[in-house]
Amino acid sequence: MEEDLNKLIEFHGHYCPGLIIGYKVAKYVLKNFKRSQDEELVAIVYNNSCSVDAIQFILGCTFGKGNLIFKDYGKHVYIFYSRENKKGIRISLKEEISKEMNTVRNSMLNTTGEGIDIDAVKKWKEEYSDKLLNLPEEELFNVRDVDIPEPKRSKIYPSIQCEECGEYFMEIRGRIIDGKIVCMECFERLLEN
Ligand SMILES: [Zn+2]
Ligand SMILES: [Zn+2]
Repeated sequence: MEEDLNKLIEFHGHYCPGLIIGYKVAKYVLKNFKRSQDEELVAIVYNNSCSVDAIQFILGCTFGKGNLIFKDYGKHVYIFYSRENKKGIRISLKEEISKEMNTVRNSMLNTTGEGIDIDAVKKWKEEYSDKLLNLPEEELFNVRDVDIPEPKRSKIYPSIQCEECGEYFMEIRGRIIDGKIVCMECFERLLEN
C-alpha cells in the first residue's frame, strides 16, 4: 500500500469504499489538474461522506482554508476549480459503480432478518475497497471540463458582541430578537423558549 494511503486511513480511522473513491479522485486531480499551491485549488463536493476526508487530506482543500465548499446534494460528484488557470473539472462516479454499491448494500440490508450482519459488511467493505483501489480511473469516474464562475474567496467580517451571552461573533451571522442583537446560538435558544 502506498505511503499516502496508509496515512490517509490513519487520519480517517478506517479503510472503506467511500474513502477509496475520494482517494482516487484526489490522485486523479493531483496528476491531471495542475496547481502550484493548495489555496489556488477549490473543491466543491456534493456529499459529506467518507470520501471528502481524502479530498481534504490529499489535496489540502479544507474548511479551515476556505477552499472546500460543501453542497448537500448527496451525490458522488466532485468539482475542482483552479484559480490559477480559471478552469474547472467535474468528476462523477460511474453509473455501474453506483449500481454495484447499491445492490450489495441493499442485499446486505435484506438478507438477514435480524438486521445487518456486521462481519459480512466489514468483509465486503474491505474487498470492495481493494477492488476500487485497483480499478483504472476511466472505469471509475466520468470526468469533464466545466465552465463555472470562480468561487468567491472567504471574506473576513468584523466581530460584534452578543447582547445575550457576551461572546463575539461574525457580524453577518447576527440576529435580532426582542430588539437585541444576538449570536445564532442565543437566537436559536431564545426562539425555542
Ligand atoms: Zn469511511
Ligand atoms: Zn450569544
